[in-house]
Amino acid sequence: MLYESTRGQYGRVSAAEAIKLGLAPDGGLFVPCRDVIFTEERLISMAGLSYQDRAIRILEEYLGDYTREEIAACVKLAYSAEKFDAPATAPVRKLDDSLYVLELWHGPTCAFKDMALQILPHLLTRAAAKTGEKSSIVILVATSGDTGKAALEGFKDVPGTRIIVFYPEQGVSEVQKLQMITQEGNNVAVVAVRGNFDDAQTGVKSIFADKDFNQELQNNNYRLSSANSINWGRLVPQISYYFSAYLDLLAKGEVNRGEKINFVVPTGNFGNILAAYYAREMGLPVNKLICAANSNNVLTDFIRTGVYDRTRRFLKTISPSMDILISSNLERLLYHLSGRNPEKIRQWMGSLNKTGQYQVDETVYKPIGRIFWSDFASDSDTLATIKAVHQRYGYVMDTHTAVGMRVYERYREETGDGTKTVIASTASPFKFNESVVKAILGEDAVKGKNELELLEVLAVKSRLEIPAGLRNLDQKPVLFKNVVSKEEMTEAVRNLLLKS
Ligand SMILES: *Cc1c(COP(=O)(O)O)cnc(C)c1O
Repeated sequence: MLYESTRGQYGRVSAAEAIKLGLAPDGGLFVPCRDVIFTEERLISMAGLSYQDRAIRILEEYLGDYTREEIAACVKLAYSAEKFDAPATAPVRKLDDSLYVLELWHGPTCAFKDMALQILPHLLTRAAAKTGEKSSIVILVATSGDTGKAALEGFKDVPGTRIIVFYPEQGVSEVQKLQMITQEGNNVAVVAVRGNFDDAQTGVKSIFADKDFNQELQNNNYRLSSANSINWGRLVPQISYYFSAYLDLLAKGEVNRGEKINFVVPTGNFGNILAAYYAREMGLPVNKLICAANSNNVLTDFIRTGVYDRTRRFLKTISPSMDILISSNLERLLYHLSGRNPEKIRQWMGSLNKTGQYQVDETVYKPIGRIFWSDFASDSDTLATIKAVHQRYGYVMDTHTAVGMRVYERYREETGDGTKTVIASTASPFKFNESVVKAILGEDAVKGKNELELLEVLAVKSRLEIPAGLRNLDQKPVLFKNVVSKEEMTEAVRNLLLKS
């Protein structure tokens, strides 16, 4: 399998090269050059397999330059019992006869990004070896919360790699900050940046763009790389859990051979739902993909009108991992739906860059409406949904998942479609405990309590155990206290890599 850029101005590359490069050098995203199809027989033959073995079947179709042994080794390292606290890795919970929840947060950091970031480091180090890379890989991350911790956990102690995470000093929650500054591992570093997420992000981008500094690193056998969600190595592992969810339902007799289901996906950068789109194209029996947004509803408007318009106010919501106005991975969908037309992609992305908006043609807009449905949920709807779901099913959802649930309710009201539906649950309720406790127990229950105390409150109320990754965070030693300005970030990297 080879990969091509959505902008059409870079040659075809192997999977290893695509994963090592991350972004294509012409500014596009790498996509597979041909379609992968699973027949019904092949699908059914996978029903008896473990999550790990299902993942191997999917990955080997896309990573043709990796051997099955290599893929199996990566999968074993990533989805082990030591890393995931559910034997099924990504278990499916039944709420009622037509509604299920796919829990994607049983990994070390309690959010769905672990599903990809636990395996990416292993795919990346093998990619480096395959492409003759002699330098150590240095991952630089700017994070608004979830990604930084998930990347730290994924890369910690992976030979041949270093990871440096920058987070905005005032821009992350107490739990998120403690998760990062107590990070263990012999190749990790965490640095606070004075400013907001944009300052940290801008600083990281300018380090990547600094030719002299990159040369200096190269002379010392370091090569910068990124682990962000446009890397194919982050997208492809996410296809596996859509297959796995369907196969679980099939194995339990919840769906019959060939029966279609819907997936609801709480969406930000369009990575998670794009993986569901690939699964559908590969022959997984999927009816609709329901794209759930919060009040930053750029994608809902796009799916409904064909116009992408980011020129609007950025809103801070209680589902912060979906607070995004540029959904980078959408470019891959547009490329496929336009019949692999790089001229069109350059035109639309150029327009987005210049004017903040673009409008796709009928040929792309029509299939979008056939495959996708979208709506959004406000913060108050989200809180009301958490409470209602807890009362009705005794199930506790986090805020992002509740956005999905609310949008699904609207979908059923508007379309009457009773197709069995799986909601992708993207975070543990413990990770966003303040909003969850407030929703279930009311405003008074959170007054005067910090997030660590609220973990206990939620554990008692939900009769669930606090996940290992969030337990005793205040008792762990703080290992990273460095705070720098945006201008000092390059020097911070130099100190960490070249002077220690
Ligand atoms: C990252 C994230 C999302 C958004 O996923 P995308 O792939 O960016 O669409 C949703 N929920 C949670 C909890 C996340 O961490």
